Amino acid sequence: MVVVMRAGATPDQIEHVVSMVKDMGLKEQVIVGTERTVVAVIGDDRQKDSSVFEMVEGVERVVPILAPYKMASSEVKKSRTIIPLLAGSDARIGGRKVGVIAGPCSVESREQIKEIAHAVKEAGAIGLRGGAYKPRTSPYAFQGTGENGLKWLAEAREETGLVVVTEVMATEQIPAVSEYADVLQVGARNMQNFNLLMALGNQPKPVLLKRGLSATLEEFLLAAEYLMKNGNTQVILCERGIRTYEEYVRNTLPLASVPELHRLSHLPVVVDPSHGTGKSHLVQDMCRAAVAAGADGWIVEVHNDPARAWTDGAQSITPDQFAEMMKSIKRIAQAIDRDA
Ligand code: PEP
Ligand code: MN
Repeated sequence: MVVVMRAGATPDQIEHVVSMVKDMGLKEQVIVGTERTVVAVIGDDRQKDSSVFEMVEGVERVVPILAPYKMASSEVKKSRTIIPLLAGSDARIGGRKVGVIAGPCSVESREQIKEIAHAVKEAGAIGLRGGAYKPRTSPYAFQGTGENGLKWLAEAREETGLVVVTEVMATEQIPAVSEYADVLQVGARNMQNFNLLMALGNQPKPVLLKRGLSATLEEFLLAAEYLMKNGNTQVILCERGIRTYEEYVRNTLPLASVPELHRLSHLPVVVDPSHGTGKSHLVQDMCRAAVAAGADGWIVEVHNDPARAWTDGAQSITPDQFAEMMKSIKRIAQAIDRDA
């Protein structure tokens, strides 16, 4: 950080700041300018509370230099991270190829998940999504098929070879979900459930971390940092849209976050245009736009009968629409030197 002194700060005030820096175990460099003096703090100050300087007489403001997240930061790791999703399979997120995860919002039945799994596999998906535990706004809404849903997902993986991605809502669900799933999803509503993040940091399967509904990119990356600091560096960031005043969509999908997250972090970024728009007629175009923006993949809701879907039918596309879109993204990927 850099502590900027007010114009006219006295030598005593500057000395006070310098002694505080030393008390923190850090070094200082005092730069005297023509208008004002700044005190540059040298060393890793991320664990220090920079706001204490703002209370000191003669200090104008404190400017952070290091990103508050470390392991997730591109300052610390220059090469882009590629995440293998399942041992013995070549499914991965990151790298040149755009990885697509598709499936229903909720696992409804064995037949439903298998039918969709075969269709999306045929069209080129590498992963199968489907919630068995559902975070619902209303406690009266369908809450998911639970462990049965997990078993049906695993059966679909046996038949298709698709990697299973499903949400874990609570620490107690981790053993069951990781028994059947390959990638554990943290939902938007749980992005700042720090106990859950720490527990997922302590297990080996990759985590797909969704951006919170009102989280800044810094908060999003700090959530990733919780996973990484606790031992799990296999983190996939997922932009799933944020809540704004706009009403023509369920959420606003800020695709500029894709290149920005790539600039700030080495972690791969996927986009969820289903929750990001809430409208099936917008999903295909937003998938294409996400590829053009450089996304490493997407997670998209596909249902064999959207009108009868138990959850999120309005934002689910059909297997035919999915297949059609998969064809068109190949050309977009090529245009930006990627493969799909
Ligand atoms: C989901 O993927 O079905 C889901 C509930 O997503 P989100 O947490 O982004 O709302
Ligand atoms: Mn959904």
